[in-house]
Amino acid sequence: SDIGSQKERVVTEEEWLQKWEMGNIGFHKEQRHPLLQKYLDVLLHGRSGLRIFFPLCGKAVEMKWLADMGHSVVGVEVSEQAVKEFFSEHSLPYCEEPVPEISGAKMFQSTSGNISLYCCSIYDLSSSIVGKFDGVWDRGALVAVNPCDRQRYASLMISLVEKNSSYLLVTVLYDPNKHKGPPFYVPESEIKSLFG
Ligand code: SAH
Repeated sequence: SDIGSQKERVVTEEEWLQKWEMGNIGFHKEQRHPLLQKYLDVLLHGRSGLRIFFPLCGKAVEMKWLADMGHSVVGVEVSEQAVKEFFSEHSLPYCEEPVPEISGAKMFQSTSGNISLYCCSIYDLSSSIVGKFDGVWDRGALVAVNPCDRQRYASLMISLVEKNSSYLLVTVLYDPNKHKGPPFYVPESEIKSLFG
C-alpha cells in the first residue's frame, strides 16, 4: 500500500479548534472504548493509584472511569472547549490555573484533585512539568498526530513514561489511499520503529 499519500498532510491546531467549535467531533464516543475494558489488566497489572496519561485527550470519558477507580489522570488537549465540556458533562467541579513553565497554557484540575487536564500543545510538555506516568491510553492520539510529527511525538511519549509502564495504543487499519486522515494510517512496522 502507498502510505506516501498521507505523508505531507498537516492538520493545524486552528483546524482542531474549529472542529470543536463546529461540533465536528465524530471521534468522540459516549461509551467507554471496548479495547480499554478488554486490556485494562495489561494497563494496570493489578496495581492501584497509578498515574495515567491521556495524550490528545479530547473529552474522553475513560478519564472519568479510571479516576473513579482511584487512579490519577493527566491529559493534554489543545481545545479549551473540549476540556471544559469534559468537566461540565461529568458534573465535576474544577479550578483553573496558569502553568508557569508554559506561556499561555492553563491547567484545569478537578476539585477532588485526581484529574488534571493541561490545555496546551502536547509538544509544550516535558517530564519536568508533568512528571512520569505508569500508564498511557493512546486512542485517537498517535493516529491524530501529523505524520511529519510522529517521531517527535514518540520520543516525547517515551520520555514521559516510567520504566515499568504500560502503553496501550489504538490504531486503525485501512487503505491510506482512500482517506486523507486523521485518523492517519500508522502501520505496525512504523510503530515498531517509533517505539522500539
Ligand atoms: N483521544 C480523544 C480525542 C481524539 S481526537 C478521544 O479518544 O476521544 C484528537 C484530539 O487531539 C482533538 O481533540 C484535538 O483537539 C487534539 N489535539 C490535536 N493536536 C494537539 C496537540 N498538538 N496537542 C494537544 N492536543 C491536540
